[in-house]
Amino acid sequence: MENNKRKSLKFIFLRMTIFPILILGILIVIFSSGTFTKSMQTEVRSGLKNLAISVLNTYDVAYPGDYALQLQGEKALQLIKGNQVISGKYDIIDKIKKETGIDITIFYQDTRVLTTIEDEDGTRIIATAAHPMILREVYDQKQEKFYNNASIGSDEYFAYYAPLYNEDGTCVGMIAAAKPADNVNAMIHRSVYLIFVLAVAAMVLTSLVSIGFTRRIVDIIQEIKSFLSSVEKGNLTSKLDDKVLNRPDEFGEMGRSILHMQKALRILIEQDALTKLYNRRSGERKTKAIYERAKKTGAPFSVSIGDIDFFKKVNDTYGHEAGDAILKSVAKILNQNMVGRGFAARWGGEEFLLVYENATQKVAAEALNDILGHIRSTEVDYQDQKIKVTMTFGVVEGDCNKEINVILKEADDKLYAGKSSGRNCVMD
Ligand code: GH3
Ligand code: MG
Ligand code: MG
Repeated sequence: MENNKRKSLKFIFLRMTIFPILILGILIVIFSSGTFTKSMQTEVRSGLKNLAISVLNTYDVAYPGDYALQLQGEKALQLIKGNQVISGKYDIIDKIKKETGIDITIFYQDTRVLTTIEDEDGTRIIATAAHPMILREVYDQKQEKFYNNASIGSDEYFAYYAPLYNEDGTCVGMIAAAKPADNVNAMIHRSVYLIFVLAVAAMVLTSLVSIGFTRRIVDIIQEIKSFLSSVEKGNLTSKLDDKVLNRPDEFGEMGRSILHMQKALRILIEQDALTKLYNRRSGERKTKAIYERAKKTGAPFSVSIGDIDFFKKVNDTYGHEAGDAILKSVAKILNQNMVGRGFAARWGGEEFLLVYENATQKVAAEALNDILGHIRSTEVDYQDQKIKVTMTFGVVEGDCNKEINVILKEADDKLYAGKSSGRNCVMD
């Protein structure tokens, strides 16, 4: 059971659609968040770099000249630029921090001289040393560098460091522009979360659409399957739902072909191949239906069996094929005359069953006499020969107190009475 479920079309369709969507969704989340993180960092880096350059330019404009250390009083060392002391002058970097939230630090050699970064007590962390690795990579090796995990004080930063030069090209320190990592990461997380939510929403939507589609397809297949199994059980009148038949696609085509197949099968089973009349089996079935209806309504019905006279002689004289042509021509006359009255069936050989619904024996006998007149006057052309035949009919009125077989036997007896009394007549 479990195994069958796994092999069912619904399961296969779902597996075919949902798994790739799921994998695609995961890949989209991974790649887009990776790409986003990278581009975000690139953005932060260039922002920090631009800011660092503009800080240096601002200092150059405000305090033209070189950076140098100057002894103040007995022990304190002060940073001067040109001929002005810049130690303790935080207005430029504080303004930037206020406007952008970015921390700026200026190092003289390895020591923080100016900074916006404060420790937990709110004191600027001046006169502290740069991290040895940063000092080596930026100050010693004289190259700008971006760190996405620089720890300054007790916090993590995204930080851009660049060497600081005097006019003669000597490296005197470093400048750093740093953004708290929490800020950047929160931004990255927000965007990745948005990508994730969008990807999940797309996955859910696609899955729902594919589940709905799969359900519709499987419904149609189930409809066709149950129709086929009813045909298989011999129900040749069962109907295929219009929702399948009206489809313009392959399922609709399939449904219409199956319906044609059902019709062909019904004809094959119900029709006599030579005369195209109902065969004996369907003749019996239709007689029973009329008998049951009459039983309910009390309406009269009449049963007749007719037989072509001296048919053996026709075969012997003109050949079997001529005999077949006669059978077809007789069947056509019978069929045409039964329209609206009942039905005609080939009862066997050159014998025919005719059942009149809502007709007394008298009415049926009159109709049969018309048929006989028509047959008598009909010439069948066969290979330049004109062949004529006559028929004998026995007719009885149905009696619902009697079994069908009994009624049929009575009609047969009447036929033989007709044969005995000279043929070419309607015996009632
Ligand atoms: P009767 O007037 O007493 O009915 O004489 P009959 O010759 O018609 O009756 P009989 O039963 O002696 O012969 C019936 C013939 O019908 C014999 C058989 O070869 C022929 N026959 C039965 N079915 C077919 C058929 O499908 N095609 C042809 N060509 N002949 C058929
Ligand atoms: Mg005969
Ligand atoms: Mg016969």
